[in-house]
Amino acid sequence: MYSKLMRYITLRSCDKGFSAYPAIRSGKKRLIYTPREECGIFGVYGHPEAANLTYLGLYALQHRGQEGAGICSSDGKHVYFEKALGLVADIFTEKRLKRLPGFIAIGHNRYSTAGGSFLKNVQPIVANFSLGTISLAHNGNLINAYELREELEREGAIFQSSSDSEVIIHLIAHSKNNSLHERIISAVQKVSGAFSLLLMTEKELIAIRDPYGVRPLSLGIFDGAYVVASETCAFDLIGARYVRDIEPGEMLVINEHGLSSQKVLFSPRRSFCIFEFIYFSRPDSLIFGAQSVDKVRKALGRQLAKESDTEADIVIPVPDSGVQAALGFAEASGIPFDFGLVRNHYVGRTFIEPKQSIRHFGVKIKLNPIRGVLEGKRVIVIDDSIVRGTTSKKIVKMLFEGGGAKEVHMKISSPPTIGPCFYGIDTPTRQELIASTHLVEEIRKYITATSLQYLSLEGLLSTVENPQDYCIACFDRKYPISFPREETEQLEIIFTV
Ligand code: AMP
Repeated sequence: MYSKLMRYITLRSCDKGFSAYPAIRSGKKRLIYTPREECGIFGVYGHPEAANLTYLGLYALQHRGQEGAGICSSDGKHVYFEKALGLVADIFTEKRLKRLPGFIAIGHNRYSTAGGSFLKNVQPIVANFSLGTISLAHNGNLINAYELREELEREGAIFQSSSDSEVIIHLIAHSKNNSLHERIISAVQKVSGAFSLLLMTEKELIAIRDPYGVRPLSLGIFDGAYVVASETCAFDLIGARYVRDIEPGEMLVINEHGLSSQKVLFSPRRSFCIFEFIYFSRPDSLIFGAQSVDKVRKALGRQLAKESDTEADIVIPVPDSGVQAALGFAEASGIPFDFGLVRNHYVGRTFIEPKQSIRHFGVKIKLNPIRGVLEGKRVIVIDDSIVRGTTSKKIVKMLFEGGGAKEVHMKISSPPTIGPCFYGIDTPTRQELIASTHLVEEIRKYITATSLQYLSLEGLLSTVENPQDYCIACFDRKYPISFPREETEQLEIIFTV
């Protein structure tokens, strides 16, 4: 019951086309698993090579989504569009990029999942309506998309995909306001959840961030042009200068008159996603008020060391996600750092494989132990998180069996993950989160480690500026953005079980 509900309410920004909506629409509220994803977005205004820059931006943001990508460009009169399933570098051949002329562009990376995937759900979404052509790229997850979609369908809207982002397009089209800006504002005032948005018309680029600021979104300048990206690592690749974050609730319009900003959404509080620091963003990015992801991750490791009394010979990371935290841990503990696991970079993230059997296999093809580093040693191994426990179990086994480690102390640079994310991070249902159903000692036994330590919640919050501004629902299950009424009631019932 719980997991089905969770799946139902997590219809999200870039979800797969085939599953949940038809089942729900049939009136039975039969709930079918919908793969979920994070995304990366990038936009440019005012550069003759807008599409090429967007291609590079998406390339730098590839870690935020590997299923498919799309770019939309405009020369001021016409909108051009290319999208496909696959990785950015494979999709955008020179020929394809040449078909994207113009000085404005927006692009989108979808998070990779195995199983069926549909081109129609790859963004940007492009739609023609009375005021012209509008394209949209969305990172985040709307939590009231289902209700809005039902309402829109009753009014005659015909949806092309199952993406919750399409709801925004229909809300814009259905709005009674005269100007496009007013229509966009009224649309985003109706949606609830996490959304960092890029919209493009023939003549302008618009960036909007939800009132809580859940997902990052930054503004930069390159060669006299404005650029907007999910993470600043995209600016670094093209040589753009970071200017500032798009503020929570802000709408930024960039057109021939320059840049104008308006606060269009009331912000009751900020709820920056702490997991962006722990795992999701790239360490070379600056997010949430220009804080360095690398620095926060190292601080997580230092804090973990402060909370640890384990004696060991070496500290090793689970590459790549544990590298910065392990460096911080080694620095604070004085225990030497080394690489005891080698990662094959040519396989995708194992987490995204849908079936247990494949995931088990995935960890093996991704990581290999270095016996010369590990043999006979008391090893501290650092990873960013344990979700289902599958990865940690495989790693511990690998360090003992393949590496010959004497002891394996698993340390996690975040607290136990006990709550699924409804705002855009790909975590499974609560039932599948091992820490929501098991005590730390039970998890230790399951992963067969000599010891297991998680970072404390207080320790985690001590590593970021203004800790009250963060969503930590995956660690405390206090969800800052409320769900539509029906789900909230059910959530409460289920949470008390
Ligand atoms: P699991 O095997 O299910 O416990 O997954 C834990 C591993 O997945 C850790 O090594 C994390 O680095 C990684 N991970 C955590 N969250 C995510 C996510 N949202 N998407 C992909 N990988 C993740």
